[in-house]
Amino acid sequence: MSAFDYDLFVIGGGSGGVRAARVAAGEAGARVGLAEESRYGGTCVIRGCVPKKLMVFASEFGGMIETASAYGWGHQAGAFDWSAFRGTLHAELDRLEGIYRKLLKNAGVDSFDARAVIKDPHTVALSTGETFTAKHILVATGGHPVRPDVPNAELGMVSDDLFELDALPERLLIIGGGFIACEFACIMQGLGVAVTQFYRGGQILRGFDNEARDLMAEEMIAQGIDLRVDTEIAEMSPVTPGAQGGPIRVRCIHGTDQTFDAVLFATGRVPNTKGLGLEEAGVKLGRGGEIVVNEYSQSDVPSIFAIGDVTERITLTPVAIREAMAFVETVFRGNPTPVDHVLVPSAVYTQPELGAVGLSEEAARELEHIEVYTTTFRPMQSAFAGKPDRVLMKLVVSQASRRVLGCHIVAPAAGEMIQMAAIAIKMGATKEDFDRTVAVHPTMAEEIVTMRHPTRTA
Ligand code: NDP
Repeated sequence: MSAFDYDLFVIGGGSGGVRAARVAAGEAGARVGLAEESRYGGTCVIRGCVPKKLMVFASEFGGMIETASAYGWGHQAGAFDWSAFRGTLHAELDRLEGIYRKLLKNAGVDSFDARAVIKDPHTVALSTGETFTAKHILVATGGHPVRPDVPNAELGMVSDDLFELDALPERLLIIGGGFIACEFACIMQGLGVAVTQFYRGGQILRGFDNEARDLMAEEMIAQGIDLRVDTEIAEMSPVTPGAQGGPIRVRCIHGTDQTFDAVLFATGRVPNTKGLGLEEAGVKLGRGGEIVVNEYSQSDVPSIFAIGDVTERITLTPVAIREAMAFVETVFRGNPTPVDHVLVPSAVYTQPELGAVGLSEEAARELEHIEVYTTTFRPMQSAFAGKPDRVLMKLVVSQASRRVLGCHIVAPAAGEMIQMAAIAIKMGATKEDFDRTVAVHPTMAEEIVTMRHPTRTA
């Protein structure tokens, strides 16, 4: 019998923590406790990927109904009923949270609705007053959105607040140019909100392929989003002094002044590491507050591990889940398994979507000589309806090895397409492997296997 209360104590019941707990307990036979101070499912399920994707679906119907009329359907879109949708959305989130709780219970995990603080490398104290010892502690506490340091920033919302809105604003300003800013710009515009987006840099979606970023920006502007790059806010203030929740006046660094009904800060997220007793226990934190771990997700304290957004390696749900599985394999199955962070595909759920895997043209050029295959065209479905939408299919290929180094897709359902392309690219497919794959016709994705001649070399 172990001297510890548990073999593993997990702090955080999000995607990574729940996966680690239930696999360690249910499949590897460990005695596992887990504490979650908020809701089970974490950012992804409760205030991130899942409700966001449901809002993407909601926001797409207006455009679909418009397109449908070109196909002979006679209906017009009515007004969007936010409160009806929000009710269904929250019922769905409650259902999903229930599933997460049940998964833990069925796996034999003891879960605690409490905040946990690390007391020493083998001890956690809960806000309920209980204290437990554990052979291993896994920190999977995720992150939270941050507001920039501008006067009256508290007047603005962060992404967590969007799912709780009583009513949709008429005029919304979104600040930021990353995943969350661009996704919510499209969602809100699709739901009938007049969206303005300020981005401090020269082009949105920094880090993605430039050609994809440019097309994405064009498409967002074509939808009616008032996207302004090289624009930073200097301060914000309530139009009615002292008022809470009324219109907000926003002044930019270059002097322009505009009023909005709401402001959303989508200016990044930081790891949840404050007040957890980490540094006191000897765990090293990085400059952004993230837990520094090795390739096995182990911190400087051998008994304390960390996975997911709190480590800020790649802040995506499926990566946290992979890290959880690798952790269990390493610690509970005696099979040291480093986490593979290479060629992780991702999708931005804008309209159209942006799917990417591997290197951008700009990043690849820095490393070796490349060929670039790229095509933009009007997709059949919207071209028929007389819409100007364009899509992009792009491959970045190594001249020396012929391997496809990167694939970038801007198109409806690009997230679905990039998942498939990522398998081939992860397997090391060459351009010639793509070429000898027969097209599926008529699709948008067939262009990925029919681009015969490089658009440019570099
Ligand atoms: P991102 O890091 O993607 O974007 C933050 C944005 O805010 C950037 O455009 C950044 O500009 C800007 N910014 C940062 N600080 C300031 C400031 N002080 N003033 C003005 N602008 C500022 O973060 P998000 O919050 O959008 O998302 C966090 C992470 O969550 C993502 O990186 C992603 O990993 C994950 N996520 C994934 C999704 C998906 O898979 N579909 C969806 C949503 C989130 P700059 O570029 O100049 O730094």
